[in-house]
Amino acid sequence: MTQFNILITDGLDESGQSILRSLANVDNRSGITADELLKVIPDYDSLIVRGRTKVTASVLEAASRLKVIGRAGVGVDNIDLEAAKKHSVTVVNAPLSTTLAVAELTFALLLALAREIPRADVGMKQNKWLKKELEGVELNGKTLGIIGFGRIGAEVGKRAAAFGMDVIAYDPLISEDEIKQRGAEPVSIQDLYAWSDFISLHLPLNVQTRDMIGPLAFSEMKDGVRIVSAARGGIVDEAALVAALNSGKVAGAALDVFGQEPPGLTEAVSHPRVIATPHIGAQTVEAQSRASEDIAAEVLSALQGKPLRWKLN
Ligand code: NAD
Repeated sequence: MTQFNILITDGLDESGQSILRSLANVDNRSGITADELLKVIPDYDSLIVRGRTKVTASVLEAASRLKVIGRAGVGVDNIDLEAAKKHSVTVVNAPLSTTLAVAELTFALLLALAREIPRADVGMKQNKWLKKELEGVELNGKTLGIIGFGRIGAEVGKRAAAFGMDVIAYDPLISEDEIKQRGAEPVSIQDLYAWSDFISLHLPLNVQTRDMIGPLAFSEMKDGVRIVSAARGGIVDEAALVAALNSGKVAGAALDVFGQEPPGLTEAVSHPRVIATPHIGAQTVEAQSRASEDIAAEVLSALQGKPLRWKLN
């Protein structure tokens, strides 16, 4: 007999949904609007989201029987954690499921930036042989600065070392010994900016990190630096990035995440030296099925009062 009502609002891989259906009624409302969510949320014991649905204080106010919110992935900046705590709603995520997918996309973007692969492909499709124009740079021997040396940052670091890069990292919440054990040289943020040929961001978005990569940060970076952001929109100040690209300070940037998503044809997206992808870091078959299974198991544990692996509040 089913006991719980679960609402899924941003889609969830079938493997996770079948785990949920063993104990619950599951409703799929992908693309639900904020107003509709407010109307239906009082019927549910659990809400499962990805990054699109905004779980605001008003949603939590209306959610009279909600016990657990599951985020099928890592970032929870779309969930009001304080309001959830106030209403005794547990928030859980699936932090291990997407690490390798994001690390691999980051590496694809580093290589695409170094060799201008998107421009080469567009040229071919326009019957242009841009061989002379497309002189790239090698990763080997270059310094990669990683800001945020957690799960994804450390996996990017391993891959960079295998490509012959010198890996330095800044992470104020991890000890220098831990950073060394994970394979990077710990440095201050000023040294990271000053020494890096490539910079990759793997830190969360919060009040401290919003617009962190702005005019001051760019002014401290090496001329010709290349930047990859597959972390969260809002950490890179996109207007300042465009200015830094136009002045030649930044040679190229690859962005998977944007302050507003979808961003539309902003100056950053349209810039010839920006490679833009539509927040596809976690979009692999493997990551999506892992995320759905991990979050399904965790949500059912929360509903049944069992011990939790990834409780956030
Ligand atoms: P994690 O928690 O393992 O690592 C984040 C690291 O950032 C931590 O070690 C933390 O100490 C560090 N950090 C916090 N504040 C910092 C600051 N001010 N300066 C430098 N470092 C700081 O998380 P993770 O799983 O590695 O995820 C990293 C980022 O990737 C998150 O922002 C997450 O939202 C993002 N992400 C993006 C996608 C995508 O589709 N592009 C998918 C999954 C995760």
